[in-house]
Amino acid sequence: MDLMTKLSILADAAKYDVACTSSGSSRAAQKGQLGNALSAGLCHSFTADGRCVSLLKILMTNVCVYDCAYCVNRSSNEVRRAAFTPHEIADLTIEFYRRNYIEGLFLSSGVIESPDRTTELMVRALSILRYEHGFRGYIHAKAVPGTSPELIDQLGRLCDRVSVNLELPSRQSLDLLAPQKSGQNILGPMRQIRDSIAEDAETRALVRRKPTFYQQQVSVARKQQAFAPAGQSTQMIIGATPETDFQILNLSAALYRSLNLKRIFFSAYLPVNQDPRLPSTAGVQLNREHRLYQADWLMRFYHYEAGELIDEANPFLAHDVDPKANWALNHLDLFPVEVNTAPLEVLLRVPGIGPAGARKIIKARRTTTLREAELRKLGIAYKRARYFLTCNGAYGGSGISFTREALHGVLAAPINGGRHGRRADNPLPEQMSLFEQTPTGEEVLPGHVGANAMLGASLPQGHPEHLPAPRTYASSTGSHPLQELAAWA
Ligand code: SF4
Repeated sequence: MDLMTKLSILADAAKYDVACTSSGSSRAAQKGQLGNALSAGLCHSFTADGRCVSLLKILMTNVCVYDCAYCVNRSSNEVRRAAFTPHEIADLTIEFYRRNYIEGLFLSSGVIESPDRTTELMVRALSILRYEHGFRGYIHAKAVPGTSPELIDQLGRLCDRVSVNLELPSRQSLDLLAPQKSGQNILGPMRQIRDSIAEDAETRALVRRKPTFYQQQVSVARKQQAFAPAGQSTQMIIGATPETDFQILNLSAALYRSLNLKRIFFSAYLPVNQDPRLPSTAGVQLNREHRLYQADWLMRFYHYEAGELIDEANPFLAHDVDPKANWALNHLDLFPVEVNTAPLEVLLRVPGIGPAGARKIIKARRTTTLREAELRKLGIAYKRARYFLTCNGAYGGSGISFTREALHGVLAAPINGGRHGRRADNPLPEQMSLFEQTPTGEEVLPGHVGANAMLGASLPQGHPEHLPAPRTYASSTGSHPLQELAAWA
């Protein structure tokens, strides 16, 4: 099989994996070598549903001895199979890098023979890339659950990010749909990655404090090979199994807390197989996936607790307003707040004000009184924020009654144009393909076309999920996130 055909098969097979961001790596360019993993030096594109597209995203092989129910590459499926050799992976990455198509590599794989055999081959490919080609660009590799610790260590020292897919939001679902994987052989490598990253950070702190001592203690090779400096992430499939958003967000909170994950990727279940264990409905819950990403963002950057965003009695996120707006609607007794005096943590709770905007407000109001015009100049999404603010005593949302129902109506209404139009009202693009179809059906690399031409056809809009009834939140859900993780493992 020629290389182009392999690439076509294995790039297509990788599109279901949605875990590729490069934040956090600080390895700069170096004379005589290729690539630059500094975030400022990388230019990533994201499709509208948040998927990163600037890495060469391939599977090493779509041959797999496992038979996960939801996966197009499962052993029982009759699909065209292919496998790259380690040299082919390295050469392709370098060739694409030189042509400016990509800036890094995202490498995942089906399981060939065993997790260890698969990881050995990945390590070989990445070693060629790093040591023979001197590639310093960003690499994200997926570790196979059940890989032995020595190989995880080798893999982690070749990559910027290593991740292990959690796959499904509960152990029962994992047992049902991916019986060859287990909670332990997923969480074991994740814990090892967490510990190795921490150990590495400690060693580097030691370098800064006691360089002489460090020179004696740490080998040269070790110094050069930071373990996954961009951290670890994971992915879980949403909608293939009955777990609620309440369970998923509590599990996510536990994973962030106990495994120091950088990101959790939620992947709306795409029906690609006929299997009695899978849901019969064909709807792709992209809107639900989007709301989970928003809630996840609020937990990571706005310090919301999972229990503030969702509770067991109403276990799904609202589909028509974002989780932050929903929280505000459920806490109207705390609003409106005066923008000229509210503390940072209160500003962060106002829909339309993000962390950067809140800091700008704090800074600007030291020298001026803020009104609508000043807020707009600061880049605040005033159209949303005005219902929850007063500016020097003036309420900007007049004309709309200050009730949950009325404000829900304006926040849920589509906004035409502008940065804050609702994504769910727009057609959602498919996962981007590395290939385009010519009129004859032949697949070609998009060499001289704009990024828009690389987007595939639109998927149907996500099916509506449950709209929770108006509710109030207690400060705690009564379920501790770590219990969720213990239950999963
Ligand atoms: S291990 Fe499971 S999810 Fe991964 S490629 Fe094989 S069948 Fe697919």
